[in-house]
Amino acid sequence: MKMLTGGCACGNIRYQCSGEPIVQLMCHCRDCQRSSGTAFSAMMLFASDKFRYLKGEPAFYETVAESGREIRRGFCNKCGSPISAHWPTRPQSLIVAVSSLDDPSKFDPTLETWVSRAAPWHPFHSSTTKFSEASH
Ligand SMILES: [Zn+2]
Ligand SMILES: [Zn+2]
Repeated sequence: MKMLTGGCACGNIRYQCSGEPIVQLMCHCRDCQRSSGTAFSAMMLFASDKFRYLKGEPAFYETVAESGREIRRGFCNKCGSPISAHWPTRPQSLIVAVSSLDDPSKFDPTLETWVSRAAPWHPFHSSTTKFSEASH
């Protein structure tokens, strides 16, 4: 995958990431539902050193995910767009919110996590491996 670029809705935050995503997934946990504003979060996991901000920096909301692990969710403090997420205990990797990509059609998920929490009104992807729960 060539360089990916993205940012928030208002343009205050811009970023780029290079290299292949480590994993591309959809998560249906309640935390992802709340932070995405819909049925699930679509995410790409990258090595942190492949990602950098070109403009601005997100504000962070720190919470404990359903897995019990602390997670910091980055969002634009002006327009509220989700941008990124990372685990303080795992600084070598970073999640990019697919919704913030300039070209979200690049998303090619292989996994769905927390399908036990999935909204009954949204169909699953046909070709993903599904996990009832997950550690994120
Ligand atoms: Zn913004
Ligand atoms: Zn989740």
